[in-house]
Amino acid sequence: MPEMMKALRKTFPGAGAELKEIAIPRVDKGLVLVKVEIAAICGSDQAVYRWSKNIAVNTELPFTMGHEYCGTVVEVGDGVQNFMVGDRVVGETHVPCGKCYMCRGGNQHLCVNMRNIGKTYQGCFAEYILVPESCLIKIDQTVDPRVGAIMEPLGVAVHALQKTSPCGGTLAVLGCGPIGLMTINASKQMGAHTVFSTSRSPAKLKMAEKMGADYQINSGQEDVIDAIKALTNGGGVDVVIEASGSNEAFLEGLEILKNQGRFCLLGIPTAPIQFDADRYLIRKELNITGIWGRKMYSTWLLVEQFIASGKLDLDPLLGSTYELEDYASAFEKAASGTVQRIFLNPV
Ligand SMILES: [Zn+2]
Ligand SMILES: [Zn+2]
Repeated sequence: MPEMMKALRKTFPGAGAELKEIAIPRVDKGLVLVKVEIAAICGSDQAVYRWSKNIAVNTELPFTMGHEYCGTVVEVGDGVQNFMVGDRVVGETHVPCGKCYMCRGGNQHLCVNMRNIGKTYQGCFAEYILVPESCLIKIDQTVDPRVGAIMEPLGVAVHALQKTSPCGGTLAVLGCGPIGLMTINASKQMGAHTVFSTSRSPAKLKMAEKMGADYQINSGQEDVIDAIKALTNGGGVDVVIEASGSNEAFLEGLEILKNQGRFCLLGIPTAPIQFDADRYLIRKELNITGIWGRKMYSTWLLVEQFIASGKLDLDPLLGSTYELEDYASAFEKAASGTVQRIFLNPV
């Protein structure tokens, strides 16, 4: 076992990162050392890389970046019960304390003492990552490591669908970034009978069609509310999943829902949103919610089943792989507006 490893570290407050040689972390009680096969760059890694305002608050430097990965267990600490050397694993990003009232109530994903891998906990843009066993999910040896690495963001899509029950209903997914596209794909497997997609980008709408959307609406050219009302004979949809982070899309989503419709916010709004509570909460009785991460572990169980079934079509989302040394090009590519996940190979 070598002593040192390469790791992409956030060492200074500002745009960029540094590739460093650091000591491989030592296993301890309850902890598992994973050799990272491949890692994926998420939108939130971009925010860390570019050091956006909301990241700079409450994040202590230095730390190793990255939270979406697939790897193999190489060492387990005392007391680890569910993992052995050689197990193929993917990672949950949220490190819950296991002791607070949310954890004890079965809502570990909302732990009040949460640490986040790749921000407040050492991340996976490195040759090895050391995590508590509660943050690992076992997967089959045959799963493409890139698919393994995007099971975490797929879990966000699946969690939003768990919370809005699209089965048998009509669904609109506003915004076609990678998670919006995964939502479209998974919703069909979860029984949504008609899926509408919106985006300003023709390329993303084309991808939405590939991923199973029945209708594509270019929100830069068409009025989304008029278009969806026309396609639903004025009735609107049962479920809206807002995946764009646009405040305008949020308000359109409330309007295109049927009375008592279900709304889930995935995209992170850039500013507080004002809306007419009388119209939407009282007179329409809308159910408006958001989701944070993945339920531990009911979401993961569904994600595992989806991957095992082979029924999701994630291939269109798999972008290029860069060596860890080429991280700057990888981040540039990931920020170029591509809908594909970009991967880092730390070996
Ligand atoms: Zn992520
Ligand atoms: Zn907790």
